[in-house]
Amino acid sequence: MLAGLTVKHIARAGRLGSGPALGPNALSCAAGVANAEWITEMKILLLGKGGQVGWELQRSLAVAGEVTALDFDDGGDFTKPDELLARVQALAPQVIVNSAAHTAVDKAESEPDLARQINATTPALLAIEAKRLGALLVHYSTDYVFDGSGSHARDEEAPIAPLSIYGVTKAEGEDAIRASGCQHLILRTSWVYAARGGNFAKTMLRLAAERDQLKVIADQIGAPTGADLLADLTTHMLRAARANPALSGTYHAVAGGETNWHDYARFVIEFARKQGKSIKVAPDQVLPIPTSDYPTPAKRPLNSRLSTAKLQQRFGLRLPHWQQGVERMLTEIL
Ligand code: NDP
Repeated sequence: MLAGLTVKHIARAGRLGSGPALGPNALSCAAGVANAEWITEMKILLLGKGGQVGWELQRSLAVAGEVTALDFDDGGDFTKPDELLARVQALAPQVIVNSAAHTAVDKAESEPDLARQINATTPALLAIEAKRLGALLVHYSTDYVFDGSGSHARDEEAPIAPLSIYGVTKAEGEDAIRASGCQHLILRTSWVYAARGGNFAKTMLRLAAERDQLKVIADQIGAPTGADLLADLTTHMLRAARANPALSGTYHAVAGGETNWHDYARFVIEFARKQGKSIKVAPDQVLPIPTSDYPTPAKRPLNSRLSTAKLQQRFGLRLPHWQQGVERMLTEIL
């Protein structure tokens, strides 16, 4: 018997597809991938399925196990933790992926209790439940846990110092998950976009078609990161972490390269112009402004550079340049 495979597993494997019967090589391949559990038997609970990342996770997680995906209205409401925990206990998943969050950064300033409930208090309860079940909890966090000082790329050990209620509550959520002792993957990401729903690029394209001039912040630096990339990373990482619990921990997960909102806007507009889309604003009329010219209720970090060396080294994964994902998203929406 090969390590990690029971008789039942091999019997199930024998039913797969119409390909050749499984020989010894095929079995060692399967053992290498799944190791501790046969993937079709892994129960995955996905929370926040309707969000940018949640939507993409519905796609990417489907190959990793049997996914139960919840939202507000079907028992997955983070403001009703009792109902949510009852669903978790009833399902007893091996993996919980939490992509639900209070992400309205400015609104959080005026509703801190709600932001804390969704970003910290309920995730803390989920972590305790994950510990009890022996489940892996995957959770997302943000560059906003940092103050954005300096110009260096922060690693996972850099001290956190959030500037906003959103950042504070996300940091509290992270801390509670680590303190619970559950197996976890916390992926800190930044500037998330998706083809589905509204995003910065779509707003810029609409304004560029209507206006003669645009002013865009040029002193916040970060990496636009696709929800599809995050979802794909998540699927690879959770499978590796189930097989090797030593991979548990906090990771920075952003696309490669860096930009600022002004250059990002120009990239999007020029891509659309080359595709023959109707653009009113002239290239030299997309003007850079400092953050101080665009006051918002929540303060944002200027330097959102995150080092992804730990993720790349530990998981053997490559993070493609942000332009690659943005071009793909633009090709989809234009
Ligand atoms: P979204 O806002 O797109 O998705 C969050 C989801 O959570 C939405 O479906 C939202 O529903 C849902 N939600 C809100 N309140 C509740 C609640 N009470 N109970 C259950 N679900 C709720 O966010 P993203 O997909 O972009 O973000 C995923 C993760 O990545 C989050 O942890 C976020 O903090 C993190 N992140 C996001 C960044 C970004 O730029 N978006 C940047 C850095 C980190 P509804 O839409 O109906 O409110």
